[in-house]
Amino acid sequence: MTLLRVQDLQIKFSTPEGEITAVDHVSFEVNPGEVLGLVGESGSGKSVTARALMQLNASNTTYGENSKLLLETPGESVDILALKSERQRRKVRGDLVSMIFQEPMASFAPALTIGSQMCEQLKLHRGLRRPEAKDLSIQLLSRVGISDAARRFDQYAFELSGGMRQRAMIAMALSTKPSLLIADEPTTALDVTIQAQVIDLMKEIARDFGMGIIFITHDLGVIAQTADRVAVMYLGKIVESGPVREVLHNPAHPYTRGLINALPKLEDLEAQLTPVPGDIPSPLERPAGCVFHTRCPQFSKGTCEHAIPPQHLVGNEHFSACHLHEEALASTLASAEHNQGVPA
Ligand code: SF4
Repeated sequence: MTLLRVQDLQIKFSTPEGEITAVDHVSFEVNPGEVLGLVGESGSGKSVTARALMQLNASNTTYGENSKLLLETPGESVDILALKSERQRRKVRGDLVSMIFQEPMASFAPALTIGSQMCEQLKLHRGLRRPEAKDLSIQLLSRVGISDAARRFDQYAFELSGGMRQRAMIAMALSTKPSLLIADEPTTALDVTIQAQVIDLMKEIARDFGMGIIFITHDLGVIAQTADRVAVMYLGKIVESGPVREVLHNPAHPYTRGLINALPKLEDLEAQLTPVPGDIPSPLERPAGCVFHTRCPQFSKGTCEHAIPPQHLVGNEHFSACHLHEEALASTLASAEHNQGVPA
C-alpha cells in the first residue's frame, strides 16, 4: 500500500511583486517504512512542499486545481488539500502527519517543561490522562536515546544539549504515532557525531514504526546515509528521482551531477571543488523551458530555453527530466535502424 501520493502539486504565492510559482507540477509517492529524501538548494521548493502536507503555508498560498495530497492509512483515506475546516486540518497535523524542524527550540515553548508539552499533545491527540501520558512520554524519551529520561521529562528545552533537544523533538513527534513524519533539515544544526546518531535514529524509527519519512536536506551526503529513494528538486520541479544508490552512483541530470561534483572528496582532499555555476534564479524570474537552463553546462540552444523537458525513465525506477535523454534515445533508435538496414 502506498502511504502518500503527491499528484501534480502546484503551489503559488501572491506577493506585492507578483505571483511566485514555488512548486510546479510535482508528483511523488512515499511507502510505509520508507525514507524519501527531498534534496535541493534553498528556494527549490522542498520545504514549501512539506508545509503543504502540514497545511502550514501562509494565507497567500494557492494550489493548482489538479493538485492532490492523498494520504492512505489502514483506517483512513484523506485528501489533505480538500480538507475544509481547521479542525480537520489540525487532526491530520497531529494524528497522521508530524514534522520536526532544524531548530528544536522553535518546537518547544520555553516556559513549559518538555514533559508537560508531551503530555498535552498526548491528551489532545490520543485522549490520554496525565499518568498514562507521563509514562508513555518517559518511554519515548528513552526510546530515542535520552538517558535519565524521567529527570529530563521535568526539564526545560534550554536545559538540554542541542542533540538531546533534537531527540526530544523526535520523541514528541512520534508520540501521536503519525503515519508520516516530515523531517525538515533535522541534522543541519548538529555537529557531525550527533548528526550520525540522529540519522541512525530516523532509520530505526521508519523500520520499527512502519512510518513513512520525508527527509528534507540540501546535503547529499546525509541523503546517501538516510534515504531509500531520493527526489532532487530545482526551482520547484523534481529534476531527477529514483533509488538513492542508483541516483548517486549514476546521476543522469546535469544538476544532480553538479551537486555531486560540488561535494568534497575524502580520497582527494587537494581536488578543487566544482560548485554548480551561477545562482538559483529568483522565482519572480522563472526561466522558460528547462528551469535549469541558465546554469546548465550542457545547455543546448534552441531546445532547452523553449521546451519543458518531460520525465524520462533512465534506469530501474530512475527518472530524469532533461532533453539530453531524448537526443540519446533518438541516436540509439537511428543507429538501430541503420544496423537493421545494413545487409548481413
Ligand atoms: Fe541542461 Fe537542457 Fe538538460 Fe535542462 S534540458 S538540464 S538545460 S541539457
